Amino acid sequence: MTQLDRAVAVRSFSEAFLSLLRQPQRTIRVAIPVHMDDGSLRIFEGYRVQYNNARGPFKGGIRYHIATDLEEVKALAFWMSLKCAVADIPMGGGKGGITVDPKQLSNSELERLSRGWARAMTDVIGPQKDVPAPDVNTTGEIMAWMGDEYAKMTGEKTGATFTGKPVGQGGSEGRTEATAQGGYFAFEALRESLGLPVSCAVVIQGIGNVGGYAAKIWAKNSHKIVAVSDSRGAIYNPAGLDVSAIFEHKEKTGGVRGFAGAKDVTNEELLELPCDVLIPAALENQITPANANAIQAKVVFELANGPTTPEADEILFGRGIPVVPDILANAGGVTVSTFEWEQNLKGEHWTEADVVKKLEDIMWAQAKTILSRSQELKTDIRRAAFVVALERIEAAEKARGLSS
Ligand code: NAD
Repeated sequence: MTQLDRAVAVRSFSEAFLSLLRQPQRTIRVAIPVHMDDGSLRIFEGYRVQYNNARGPFKGGIRYHIATDLEEVKALAFWMSLKCAVADIPMGGGKGGITVDPKQLSNSELERLSRGWARAMTDVIGPQKDVPAPDVNTTGEIMAWMGDEYAKMTGEKTGATFTGKPVGQGGSEGRTEATAQGGYFAFEALRESLGLPVSCAVVIQGIGNVGGYAAKIWAKNSHKIVAVSDSRGAIYNPAGLDVSAIFEHKEKTGGVRGFAGAKDVTNEELLELPCDVLIPAALENQITPANANAIQAKVVFELANGPTTPEADEILFGRGIPVVPDILANAGGVTVSTFEWEQNLKGEHWTEADVVKKLEDIMWAQAKTILSRSQELKTDIRRAAFVVALERIEAAEKARGLSS
């Protein structure tokens, strides 16, 4: 909401539209009874927030976390509405969750819980209503269980209700690497305008799914990865790191620290290293007023969700360091999820080359559109991305009857 307020300060919108957007269209809270392996019955709390569907069915992941609650799911659902509009895909925004620590459950308890969520939500989800996907602690296997449960309840056979399924069960080629791949296309679309060289020195915070693929993709395209980190620590070599050797080292030792040919640094130091591009790809709230003045990167490229706080954003903007915001930079994931939905509806299976080409076209076009909007509005790329998303949602709301 702070980010929304910052955006509407550079381009005004009607009060009617803004008040519509300040709350979700529908909030669903369910009790999910699960028979545990020891014969007891436990009741879990599950959620779905259907934020806005002016542009298409609600779309967004389902999060399993002990700290997940309705307020968090609402905020994430709002964010998804903007992200889908930024990518210009025919989807609205939603999000779901269950308050649970999945590591405390056996695999069969997890399956019963997941099937329970799908049963409880049967009436409100569906290919033309609401299309969930994986998020924190939910996997392709969980989506396959939920999809199967939904099909049993409704007879719906396209498989288009859940995305992020395994490839053999209706999933799309290219989904696993889509967030990093899409990010790379957006990066290349903006690189010259951001004043960056053909070969950049790149620092990546977090080499999990998104950051790991980012390291491979940026390195393959003749950029130099100079530092990476995981939850245990970070490594740095200004001459460049051998990315595949890092993964072998991590596989053997459980972390990146101690890698031959690089110096160990702390996670805090990693963020402040001199480089062309800093890619946060781990957690939220990593660039804050405490370190924003020490950032030496020429550009921050947010593959993680919410890595820069609004206060740090202002500091970086003031220092002339562009931030390519999460809602643009990591929109490749939801874009390929939407391709999966489309393939399921049409009964098609696209090749990986087709998926990557379509992703490139979308990311390239949206990155260019948002950059030029930031130039017209003389503002940062995040505010411009919000403005573009809000304009698209407003146009769809007007088309279905919003006046003024
Ligand atoms: P992941 O769990 O696979 O990877 C996270 C990585 O960050 C791990 O390597 C972990 O060791 C590292 N890490 C954790 N704490 C750290 C710390 N303090 N310092 C440095 N590294 C640390 O998760 P992911 O799926 O790669 O997601 C990463 C980010 O990208 C999240 O913000 C997520 O919301 C966002 N995102 C993911 C997708 C997707 O398709 N997976 C899509 C959009 C956005």
